[in-house]
Amino acid sequence: MYPLSLGSKDIKRAFDGASGLSLYIHIPFCRDLCYFCHSNKIVTRQYGLASHYMELLCKEIQWYGQIVKNIPVTKLYLTGGTPTYLTHQDIEYLLNQVKSHFYLQNIGDIPLSIESDPRHLDEDLIPELVQLGFTDLSIGIQDFEPNVQQAIHRTCSPERIQMLIERAKLCGMKTVNVDVMVGLPNQTLSSFQKTLDEIIQLNADEISVYHYQHEPERFPSQKQIERQQLPDIETKIQLAQYVYQALCQTGYDVLSADHFTHPKNKKNMTNQTPYQDPTTQYQLGLGTSATTRTPERLWKNHEDIQHYSQNIRNGQHAIKLEYGLSEDERIREALLKSILSDFQVNKGLFSRLWNIDFDHYFARELNLLKAIEKDGLISQSKDMLKVNQSELWITPYIASTFEKATEEDN
Ligand code: SF4
Repeated sequence: MYPLSLGSKDIKRAFDGASGLSLYIHIPFCRDLCYFCHSNKIVTRQYGLASHYMELLCKEIQWYGQIVKNIPVTKLYLTGGTPTYLTHQDIEYLLNQVKSHFYLQNIGDIPLSIESDPRHLDEDLIPELVQLGFTDLSIGIQDFEPNVQQAIHRTCSPERIQMLIERAKLCGMKTVNVDVMVGLPNQTLSSFQKTLDEIIQLNADEISVYHYQHEPERFPSQKQIERQQLPDIETKIQLAQYVYQALCQTGYDVLSADHFTHPKNKKNMTNQTPYQDPTTQYQLGLGTSATTRTPERLWKNHEDIQHYSQNIRNGQHAIKLEYGLSEDERIREALLKSILSDFQVNKGLFSRLWNIDFDHYFARELNLLKAIEKDGLISQSKDMLKVNQSELWITPYIASTFEKATEEDN
Protein backbone atom coordinates (compact mmCIF):
# COMPACT_ATOMS: atom_id res chain seq x y z
CA MET A 1 0.00 0.00 0.00
CA TYR A 2 1.16 3.51 -0.69
CA PRO A 3 -0.13 6.83 0.56
CA LEU A 4 -2.01 8.54 -2.22
CA SER A 5 -1.33 12.26 -1.94
CA LEU A 6 -4.94 13.19 -2.27
CA GLY A 7 -6.64 15.20 0.41
CA SER A 8 -10.18 16.25 1.15
CA LYS A 9 -9.54 19.64 -0.52
CA ASP A 10 -8.65 17.95 -3.82
CA ILE A 11 -11.84 15.91 -3.78
CA LYS A 12 -13.92 18.93 -2.77
CA ARG A 13 -12.46 20.92 -5.68
CA ALA A 14 -13.32 18.14 -8.12
CA PHE A 15 -16.96 18.26 -6.99
CA ASP A 16 -17.21 22.05 -7.45
CA GLY A 17 -20.09 22.74 -9.80
CA ALA A 18 -21.99 19.54 -9.04
CA SER A 19 -25.71 20.21 -8.70
CA GLY A 20 -26.52 16.64 -7.71
CA LEU A 21 -24.80 13.53 -6.50
CA SER A 22 -25.43 9.83 -7.11
CA LEU A 23 -24.43 7.79 -4.10
CA TYR A 24 -23.32 4.18 -4.64
CA ILE A 25 -22.63 2.02 -1.59
CA HIS A 26 -20.92 -1.32 -2.15
CA ILE A 27 -21.83 -4.19 0.17
CA PRO A 28 -19.41 -6.96 -0.80
CA PHE A 29 -20.91 -9.94 1.05
CA CYS A 30 -22.61 -12.96 -0.53
CA ARG A 31 -23.80 -16.24 0.94
CA ASP A 32 -22.94 -18.35 -2.13
CA LEU A 33 -20.54 -18.01 -5.01
CA CYS A 34 -21.91 -17.70 -8.56
CA TYR A 35 -19.35 -18.85 -11.11
CA PHE A 36 -20.16 -16.19 -13.73
CA CYS A 37 -19.62 -13.36 -11.24
CA HIS A 38 -17.33 -10.43 -12.02
CA SER A 39 -18.16 -8.37 -8.94
CA ASN A 40 -15.90 -7.68 -6.00
CA LYS A 41 -17.31 -9.92 -3.26
CA ILE A 42 -16.61 -11.89 -0.11
CA VAL A 43 -18.44 -15.19 0.14
CA THR A 44 -19.09 -15.90 3.80
CA ARG A 45 -21.89 -16.80 6.16
CA GLN A 46 -20.20 -15.19 9.17
CA TYR A 47 -22.12 -12.01 9.79
CA GLY A 48 -19.43 -10.65 12.13
CA LEU A 49 -17.39 -9.51 9.14
CA ALA A 50 -20.36 -7.54 7.81
CA SER A 51 -20.85 -5.87 11.21
CA HIS A 52 -17.20 -4.81 11.16
CA TYR A 53 -17.63 -3.52 7.60
CA MET A 54 -20.64 -1.44 8.63
CA GLU A 55 -18.49 0.41 11.17
CA LEU A 56 -15.95 1.21 8.46
CA LEU A 57 -18.60 2.33 6.00
CA CYS A 58 -20.06 4.71 8.55
CA LYS A 59 -16.63 6.26 9.14
CA GLU A 60 -16.23 6.68 5.38
CA ILE A 61 -19.69 8.29 5.17
CA GLN A 62 -18.66 10.74 7.90
CA TRP A 63 -15.41 11.57 6.10
CA TYR A 64 -17.10 12.33 2.78
CA GLY A 65 -20.06 14.02 4.48
CA GLN A 66 -17.76 16.88 5.43
CA ILE A 67 -16.68 17.31 1.82
CA VAL A 68 -19.88 17.08 -0.21
CA LYS A 69 -22.49 17.98 2.39
CA ASN A 70 -23.84 20.88 0.30
CA ILE A 71 -24.56 18.79 -2.77
CA PRO A 72 -28.05 17.25 -2.84
CA VAL A 73 -28.09 13.48 -3.16
CA THR A 74 -30.34 12.68 -6.12
CA LYS A 75 -30.08 8.90 -6.10
CA LEU A 76 -28.94 6.23 -3.68
CA TYR A 77 -27.96 2.77 -4.81
CA LEU A 78 -26.97 -0.18 -2.63
CA THR A 79 -24.96 -2.51 -4.79
CA GLY A 80 -22.68 -5.49 -4.28
CA GLY A 81 -22.05 -8.29 -3.62
CA THR A 82 -25.47 -8.65 -2.09
CA PRO A 83 -26.81 -5.64 -0.15
CA THR A 84 -29.76 -7.72 1.11
CA TYR A 85 -27.16 -9.82 2.95
CA LEU A 86 -27.41 -7.09 5.61
CA THR A 87 -30.02 -7.24 8.34
CA HIS A 88 -32.92 -4.80 8.38
CA GLN A 89 -31.33 -3.08 11.40
CA ASP A 90 -28.03 -2.57 9.60
CA ILE A 91 -29.68 -1.24 6.44
CA GLU A 92 -31.70 1.20 8.55
CA TYR A 93 -28.58 2.27 10.43
CA LEU A 94 -26.76 2.83 7.14
CA LEU A 95 -29.57 5.01 5.77
CA ASN A 96 -29.65 7.03 8.97
CA GLN A 97 -25.93 7.64 8.67
CA VAL A 98 -26.40 8.81 5.08
CA LYS A 99 -29.24 11.11 6.17
CA SER A 100 -27.16 12.58 8.99
CA HIS A 101 -24.03 13.30 6.96
CA PHE A 102 -25.24 14.12 3.44
CA TYR A 103 -27.67 16.64 1.95
CA LEU A 104 -30.73 14.44 2.01
CA GLN A 105 -33.65 15.54 4.09
CA ASN A 106 -36.27 13.09 2.93
CA ILE A 107 -35.30 9.60 1.88
CA GLY A 108 -38.70 9.34 0.13
CA ASP A 109 -37.80 12.17 -2.29
CA ILE A 110 -35.23 10.27 -4.30
CA PRO A 111 -34.95 6.89 -6.06
CA LEU A 112 -33.53 4.37 -3.64
CA SER A 113 -32.39 1.11 -5.21
CA ILE A 114 -31.18 -2.16 -3.79
CA GLU A 115 -29.85 -5.32 -5.44
CA SER A 116 -30.81 -8.74 -4.14
CA ASP A 117 -29.93 -12.40 -4.51
CA PRO A 118 -33.32 -14.15 -4.78
CA ARG A 119 -31.92 -17.42 -3.37
CA HIS A 120 -31.47 -15.80 0.01
CA LEU A 121 -33.73 -12.75 -0.03
CA ASP A 122 -35.86 -13.00 3.10
CA GLU A 123 -39.39 -12.16 1.92
CA ASP A 124 -40.07 -10.41 5.23
CA LEU A 125 -37.26 -7.99 4.49
CA ILE A 126 -39.18 -6.64 1.47
CA PRO A 127 -41.90 -4.68 3.37
CA GLU A 128 -39.20 -3.41 5.71
CA LEU A 129 -37.24 -2.10 2.74
CA VAL A 130 -40.33 -0.31 1.43
CA GLN A 131 -40.87 1.19 4.86
CA LEU A 132 -37.30 2.44 4.89
CA GLY A 133 -37.96 4.24 1.59
CA PHE A 134 -36.61 1.86 -1.03
CA THR A 135 -38.33 2.39 -4.37
CA ASP A 136 -36.48 -0.05 -6.62
CA LEU A 137 -35.69 -3.72 -6.03
CA SER A 138 -33.41 -5.56 -8.42
CA ILE A 139 -33.58 -9.36 -8.58
CA GLY A 140 -30.84 -11.28 -10.39
CA ILE A 141 -32.32 -14.23 -12.27
CA GLN A 142 -29.85 -14.79 -15.16
CA ASP A 143 -31.49 -18.01 -16.46
CA PHE A 144 -34.10 -20.59 -15.39
CA GLU A 145 -32.79 -23.61 -17.31
CA PRO A 146 -31.52 -26.20 -14.75
CA ASN A 147 -28.51 -27.06 -16.94
CA VAL A 148 -27.48 -23.42 -17.06
CA GLN A 149 -28.20 -22.80 -13.38
CA GLN A 150 -26.01 -25.76 -12.40
CA ALA A 151 -23.17 -24.57 -14.65
CA ILE A 152 -23.19 -21.11 -13.06
CA HIS A 153 -23.90 -22.38 -9.54
CA ARG A 154 -27.01 -20.30 -9.06
CA THR A 155 -30.25 -22.20 -8.61
CA CYS A 156 -33.60 -20.50 -8.11
CA SER A 157 -37.07 -21.46 -9.33
CA PRO A 158 -39.49 -19.26 -11.31
CA GLU A 159 -42.05 -19.87 -8.54
CA ARG A 160 -39.78 -18.33 -5.92
CA ILE A 161 -39.05 -15.30 -8.10
CA GLN A 162 -42.78 -14.90 -8.80
CA MET A 163 -43.50 -14.95 -5.07
CA LEU A 164 -40.82 -12.29 -4.39
CA ILE A 165 -42.07 -10.02 -7.18
CA GLU A 166 -45.68 -10.30 -6.02
CA ARG A 167 -44.65 -9.58 -2.44
CA ALA A 168 -42.65 -6.55 -3.53
CA LYS A 169 -45.51 -5.12 -5.60
CA LEU A 170 -48.04 -5.80 -2.86
CA CYS A 171 -45.87 -3.98 -0.33
CA GLY A 172 -45.60 -0.91 -2.56
CA MET A 173 -42.17 -1.28 -4.14
CA LYS A 174 -42.43 1.08 -7.14
CA THR A 175 -40.17 -0.78 -9.56
CA VAL A 176 -39.09 -4.40 -9.60
CA ASN A 177 -36.29 -5.11 -12.03
CA VAL A 178 -35.07 -8.56 -13.03
CA ASP A 179 -31.68 -9.31 -14.57
CA VAL A 180 -31.14 -11.87 -17.28
CA MET A 181 -27.81 -12.88 -18.80
CA VAL A 182 -26.99 -13.86 -22.37
CA GLY A 183 -24.01 -16.05 -23.31
CA LEU A 184 -23.97 -18.29 -20.21
CA PRO A 185 -22.70 -21.90 -20.31
CA ASN A 186 -25.13 -24.48 -21.75
CA GLN A 187 -27.46 -21.78 -23.07
CA THR A 188 -29.10 -22.71 -26.37
CA LEU A 189 -31.63 -20.74 -28.36
CA SER A 190 -34.48 -23.06 -27.36
CA SER A 191 -33.49 -23.14 -23.66
CA PHE A 192 -33.21 -19.36 -23.62
CA GLN A 193 -36.55 -18.92 -25.38
CA LYS A 194 -38.13 -20.92 -22.57
CA THR A 195 -36.34 -18.83 -19.91
CA LEU A 196 -37.38 -15.55 -21.50
CA ASP A 197 -40.99 -16.74 -21.86
CA GLU A 198 -40.98 -17.52 -18.12
CA ILE A 199 -39.43 -14.14 -17.36
CA ILE A 200 -42.09 -12.34 -19.42
CA GLN A 201 -44.78 -14.20 -17.44
CA LEU A 202 -43.36 -12.65 -14.26
CA ASN A 203 -44.57 -9.20 -15.38
CA ALA A 204 -41.54 -7.45 -13.92
CA ASP A 205 -41.53 -3.67 -14.31
CA GLU A 206 -38.10 -3.68 -15.86
CA ILE A 207 -35.83 -6.25 -17.44
CA SER A 208 -32.08 -5.73 -17.72
CA VAL A 209 -30.15 -7.88 -20.15
CA TYR A 210 -26.43 -8.43 -19.61
CA HIS A 211 -23.89 -10.17 -21.80
CA TYR A 212 -21.58 -12.66 -20.12
CA GLN A 213 -17.88 -11.96 -20.67
CA HIS A 214 -15.62 -14.95 -20.02
CA GLU A 215 -12.41 -13.59 -18.47
CA PRO A 216 -11.25 -16.23 -15.96
CA GLU A 217 -7.81 -14.61 -15.64
CA ARG A 218 -9.45 -11.49 -14.22
CA PHE A 219 -12.33 -13.16 -12.38
CA PRO A 220 -11.13 -16.41 -10.77
CA SER A 221 -14.64 -17.78 -10.05
CA GLN A 222 -15.14 -18.03 -13.82
CA LYS A 223 -12.43 -20.74 -13.89
CA GLN A 224 -15.24 -23.11 -12.85
CA ILE A 225 -16.83 -22.55 -16.26
CA GLU A 226 -15.44 -24.59 -19.15
CA ARG A 227 -14.91 -22.55 -22.29
CA GLN A 228 -16.46 -25.31 -24.43
CA GLN A 229 -19.72 -25.01 -22.47
CA LEU A 230 -20.19 -21.46 -23.75
CA PRO A 231 -22.48 -20.79 -26.71
CA ASP A 232 -20.71 -20.08 -30.00
CA ILE A 233 -20.87 -16.68 -31.67
CA GLU A 234 -23.81 -17.61 -33.96
CA THR A 235 -25.86 -18.72 -30.95
CA LYS A 236 -24.94 -15.56 -29.03
CA ILE A 237 -26.20 -13.45 -31.94
CA GLN A 238 -29.45 -15.46 -32.06
CA LEU A 239 -29.88 -14.99 -28.31
CA ALA A 240 -29.30 -11.24 -28.53
CA GLN A 241 -31.76 -10.95 -31.43
CA TYR A 242 -34.37 -13.03 -29.61
CA VAL A 243 -34.29 -10.76 -26.53
CA TYR A 244 -35.34 -7.71 -28.57
CA GLN A 245 -37.82 -9.62 -30.66
CA ALA A 246 -39.56 -11.32 -27.70
CA LEU A 247 -39.61 -8.33 -25.35
CA CYS A 248 -40.75 -5.82 -27.96
CA GLN A 249 -43.46 -8.16 -29.24
CA THR A 250 -44.72 -8.54 -25.68
CA GLY A 251 -45.02 -4.78 -25.33
CA TYR A 252 -41.88 -3.93 -23.38
CA ASP A 253 -40.36 -0.60 -24.39
CA VAL A 254 -36.67 -0.33 -25.11
CA LEU A 255 -35.21 2.12 -22.59
CA SER A 256 -31.62 1.63 -23.64
CA ALA A 257 -29.46 -1.08 -25.20
CA ASP A 258 -29.78 -3.32 -22.15
CA HIS A 259 -32.89 -2.02 -20.33
CA PHE A 260 -36.53 -2.71 -21.12
CA THR A 261 -39.54 -1.36 -19.30
CA HIS A 262 -43.11 -2.59 -19.05
CA PRO A 263 -45.47 0.08 -20.46
CA LYS A 264 -47.43 0.06 -17.18
CA ASN A 265 -44.24 0.98 -15.35
CA LYS A 266 -43.60 4.24 -17.19
CA LYS A 267 -45.64 6.34 -14.77
CA ASN A 268 -43.82 4.78 -11.79
CA MET A 269 -40.34 5.16 -13.18
CA THR A 270 -38.20 6.68 -10.45
CA ASN A 271 -34.94 5.72 -12.00
CA GLN A 272 -33.15 6.42 -15.23
CA THR A 273 -30.68 4.13 -16.90
CA PRO A 274 -27.07 5.10 -16.19
CA TYR A 275 -26.81 6.45 -19.75
CA GLN A 276 -29.73 8.84 -19.25
CA ASP A 277 -29.13 10.10 -15.75
CA PRO A 278 -27.27 13.43 -15.81
CA THR A 279 -26.33 13.17 -12.12
CA THR A 280 -24.15 10.11 -12.84
CA GLN A 281 -21.60 12.72 -13.93
CA TYR A 282 -20.98 13.18 -10.22
CA GLN A 283 -20.94 9.86 -8.49
CA LEU A 284 -19.67 9.13 -5.02
CA GLY A 285 -18.77 5.50 -4.35
CA LEU A 286 -18.42 4.18 -0.80
CA GLY A 287 -17.09 0.82 0.32
CA THR A 288 -14.55 -1.61 -1.09
CA SER A 289 -13.80 -1.25 -4.83
CA ALA A 290 -16.30 1.62 -5.11
CA THR A 291 -15.75 4.15 -7.88
CA THR A 292 -16.08 7.88 -7.40
CA ARG A 293 -16.17 10.08 -10.44
CA THR A 294 -16.65 13.55 -11.79
CA PRO A 295 -16.74 14.55 -15.48
CA GLU A 296 -12.94 14.69 -15.54
CA ARG A 297 -11.61 12.47 -12.78
CA LEU A 298 -12.10 9.00 -11.43
CA TRP A 299 -11.05 7.40 -8.14
CA LYS A 300 -11.21 3.77 -7.15
CA ASN A 301 -11.25 2.43 -3.61
CA HIS A 302 -9.18 -0.53 -2.45
CA GLU A 303 -10.84 -3.82 -3.39
CA ASP A 304 -9.63 -5.85 -0.43
CA ILE A 305 -11.13 -5.28 2.94
CA GLN A 306 -7.73 -5.23 4.76
CA HIS A 307 -6.41 -2.18 2.89
CA TYR A 308 -9.81 -0.53 2.93
CA SER A 309 -10.05 -1.07 6.68
CA GLN A 310 -6.51 0.18 7.34
CA ASN A 311 -7.11 3.46 5.49
CA ILE A 312 -10.50 4.13 7.02
CA ARG A 313 -9.22 3.34 10.52
CA ASN A 314 -6.46 5.90 9.95
CA GLY A 315 -9.16 8.50 9.44
CA GLN A 316 -8.70 8.94 5.70
CA HIS A 317 -10.30 7.95 2.42
CA ALA A 318 -9.73 4.44 1.03
CA ILE A 319 -8.82 5.51 -2.50
CA LYS A 320 -6.22 3.31 -4.14
CA LEU A 321 -6.15 4.77 -7.60
CA GLU A 322 -6.69 8.20 -9.09
CA TYR A 323 -7.22 8.67 -12.77
CA GLY A 324 -7.69 11.75 -14.94
CA LEU A 325 -9.90 11.12 -17.96
CA SER A 326 -8.29 12.23 -21.20
CA GLU A 327 -10.18 14.32 -23.75
CA ASP A 328 -10.41 11.23 -25.97
CA GLU A 329 -11.93 9.14 -23.17
CA ARG A 330 -14.51 11.82 -22.45
CA ILE A 331 -15.43 12.09 -26.13
CA ARG A 332 -15.85 8.32 -26.39
CA GLU A 333 -17.85 8.17 -23.19
CA ALA A 334 -20.27 10.82 -24.48
CA LEU A 335 -20.61 8.95 -27.77
CA LEU A 336 -21.30 5.64 -26.01
CA LYS A 337 -24.03 7.26 -23.91
CA SER A 338 -25.69 8.57 -27.04
CA ILE A 339 -25.52 5.23 -28.87
CA LEU A 340 -26.60 3.10 -25.92
CA SER A 341 -29.56 5.28 -24.95
CA ASP A 342 -30.69 6.88 -28.24
CA PHE A 343 -29.36 4.26 -30.70
CA GLN A 344 -28.04 7.11 -32.82
CA VAL A 345 -25.74 10.08 -32.81
CA ASN A 346 -26.12 13.41 -34.54
CA LYS A 347 -22.63 13.66 -35.97
CA GLY A 348 -22.87 17.39 -36.75
CA LEU A 349 -24.01 18.30 -33.27
CA PHE A 350 -21.51 15.97 -31.65
CA SER A 351 -18.67 17.47 -33.73
CA ARG A 352 -19.60 20.99 -32.66
CA LEU A 353 -19.95 20.01 -29.03
CA TRP A 354 -16.54 18.36 -28.86
CA ASN A 355 -14.79 20.49 -31.44
CA ILE A 356 -13.92 17.57 -33.71
CA ASP A 357 -14.70 16.39 -37.23
CA PHE A 358 -16.69 13.23 -36.42
CA ASP A 359 -15.95 11.31 -39.64
CA HIS A 360 -12.27 12.12 -39.42
CA TYR A 361 -11.92 11.49 -35.67
CA PHE A 362 -13.67 8.11 -35.86
CA ALA A 363 -12.45 7.13 -39.34
CA ARG A 364 -11.01 3.80 -38.11
CA GLU A 365 -14.23 2.80 -36.30
CA LEU A 366 -16.49 3.85 -39.18
CA ASN A 367 -14.34 1.76 -41.47
CA LEU A 368 -14.78 -1.27 -39.15
CA LEU A 369 -18.55 -0.74 -39.25
CA LYS A 370 -18.73 -0.65 -43.06
CA ALA A 371 -19.61 -4.35 -43.38
CA ILE A 372 -22.61 -4.13 -41.05
CA GLU A 373 -23.68 -0.89 -42.70
CA LYS A 374 -23.68 -2.75 -46.01
CA ASP A 375 -25.82 -5.48 -44.39
CA GLY A 376 -28.39 -2.84 -43.36
CA LEU A 377 -27.89 -3.03 -39.59
CA ILE A 378 -26.86 0.60 -39.28
CA SER A 379 -27.26 3.56 -41.59
CA GLN A 380 -25.34 6.77 -42.08
CA SER A 381 -25.95 10.13 -43.64
CA LYS A 382 -23.80 13.23 -43.57
CA ASP A 383 -25.23 14.18 -40.18
CA MET A 384 -26.54 11.00 -38.57
CA LEU A 385 -25.29 7.58 -37.60
CA LYS A 386 -28.08 5.30 -36.43
CA VAL A 387 -28.81 1.72 -35.56
CA ASN A 388 -31.76 0.56 -37.64
CA GLN A 389 -34.93 0.07 -35.62
CA SER A 390 -35.28 -3.64 -36.41
CA GLU A 391 -31.63 -4.33 -35.54
CA LEU A 392 -31.25 -2.75 -32.10
CA TRP A 393 -29.71 -5.97 -30.77
CA ILE A 394 -26.44 -5.00 -32.50
CA THR A 395 -26.11 -1.81 -30.40
CA PRO A 396 -23.68 -3.22 -27.75
CA TYR A 397 -21.36 -4.28 -30.60
CA ILE A 398 -21.50 -0.79 -32.17
CA ALA A 399 -20.76 0.73 -28.77
CA SER A 400 -17.81 -1.61 -28.19
CA THR A 401 -16.34 -0.63 -31.57
CA PHE A 402 -16.19 2.98 -30.37
CA GLU A 403 -15.15 2.13 -26.86
CA LYS A 404 -11.39 2.40 -26.97
CA ALA A 405 -8.76 3.84 -29.16
CA THR A 406 -6.30 1.23 -30.43
CA GLU A 407 -2.73 1.42 -29.23
CA GLU A 408 -1.55 2.88 -32.49
CA ASP A 409 -4.10 5.70 -32.06
CA ASN A 410 -2.52 6.70 -28.75
S1 SF4 B 1 -23.43 -12.82 -8.78
FE1 SF4 B 1 -24.12 -11.60 -7.05
S2 SF4 B 1 -24.69 -13.10 -5.49
FE2 SF4 B 1 -23.46 -14.19 -6.99
S3 SF4 B 1 -21.37 -14.10 -6.19
FE3 SF4 B 1 -21.61 -12.38 -7.58
S4 SF4 B 1 -22.22 -10.66 -6.31
FE4 SF4 B 1 -22.55 -12.56 -5.12
